Amino acid sequence: MNASPFAPLPDAQGYFGRFGGQRIPPALKAVMDEIDAAYEEIRHREDFQRELADLLADYVGRPSPIFHARRLSEQLGGAQIHLKREDLNHTGAHKINHCLGEALLAKFMGKTKVIAETGAGQHGVALATACALVGIPCEIHMGQVDIEKEHPNVTKMKILGATLVPVTRGTATLKDAVDSAFEEYLKDPQRFIYAIGSVVGPHPFPKMVRDFQAIIGREAREQFLERHGRLPDHVTACVGGGSNAIGMFTAFLEDDGVHLVGVEPAGEGLDTPRHSATLTLGRPGEIHGMACYVLEDEAGQPMAVHSIASGLDYPGVGPQHSYLKELGRVDYQSATDDACLEAFLTLSRVEGIIPALESAHAVAWAMRTAPTLAADRHILVNLSGRGDKDADYVAARLGL
Ligand SMILES: *Cc1c(COP(=O)(O)O)cnc(C)c1O
Repeated sequence: MNASPFAPLPDAQGYFGRFGGQRIPPALKAVMDEIDAAYEEIRHREDFQRELADLLADYVGRPSPIFHARRLSEQLGGAQIHLKREDLNHTGAHKINHCLGEALLAKFMGKTKVIAETGAGQHGVALATACALVGIPCEIHMGQVDIEKEHPNVTKMKILGATLVPVTRGTATLKDAVDSAFEEYLKDPQRFIYAIGSVVGPHPFPKMVRDFQAIIGREAREQFLERHGRLPDHVTACVGGGSNAIGMFTAFLEDDGVHLVGVEPAGEGLDTPRHSATLTLGRPGEIHGMACYVLEDEAGQPMAVHSIASGLDYPGVGPQHSYLKELGRVDYQSATDDACLEAFLTLSRVEGIIPALESAHAVAWAMRTAPTLAADRHILVNLSGRGDKDADYVAARLGL
């Protein structure tokens, strides 16, 4: 018996407690098992580990620094706030960490095409970047409505050599793009690979994406110990599907004294239908090939969710987060669109760092909590991405 509830997870069937698994047809299960076997093979190979480590250092620019936000901490008058700067990675967010891993795996397996959907275009750009580097064709499906909204990312994907497939069916947004990308994948799952953009979907994706993102917390824990001779009291990250959060939390799970806080988007308020706080208000269910917490409407369909940060509006959430919630190891809280906007502008003006609207949710929790704590307490925030992509939207909304 292993004494830790965390170490052996997921189990061989891909379960974290009762969450995760492979809720998919048998033919697809066989393909997922092949991906798992290939992943388990390369993760133990020294040449693969070295190639990935070299790329993370020389291409992504790791390790990302931790910045002590002194002015912000002083202004709030309480705990010290520190930022893990994933926004300084090449392509401007944490997503490149797992996209590189997925692209290298695709090459190792001899896949001829990497397929994915994208909503706001962040996953699409990171994946197109990794595929350009590794030299493997990349096909991104994107709703026509999103294509018109996210022009800079669309242009970047084209420049990077990805094939962009506009999706016009249904509401022509993320959900339709998922359906379209999945249909293309099912045409030849032996030769193609579907690169999932978070710690969601059927096993082995929640495990694989977590492992590729876990470098965030490994670095942060070591950096913090070295600088301060102790661990932070609170570690926080925003939760959409949950990849940047689990990447940060994994290294701290066994540190009982460290309070881990996942921040979900409360949108226009938890008392309205306009939010995306899956762990806060959802229930155990099933979506996209996994068992996890889900937000459903009255008819039992996935809810049409909302967040000011398009990277956070997903009606499901990673199975490991669902498990950590039930264990009580991670505290899941939320921040509204308005709190997020305030954090976005405050961090920009007090520290000269423009955060992604997604990341600003975690900053909002830190800003709300710091004043309630003593000045010798430390909050570490995972700043998952930079806010260039959001600058025009925020300026228009706030009338700047
Ligand atoms: C996509 C994205 C997120 C949300 O995804 P997770 O899987 O929950 O991390 C958060 N921050 C940024 C900057 C993103 O691009």
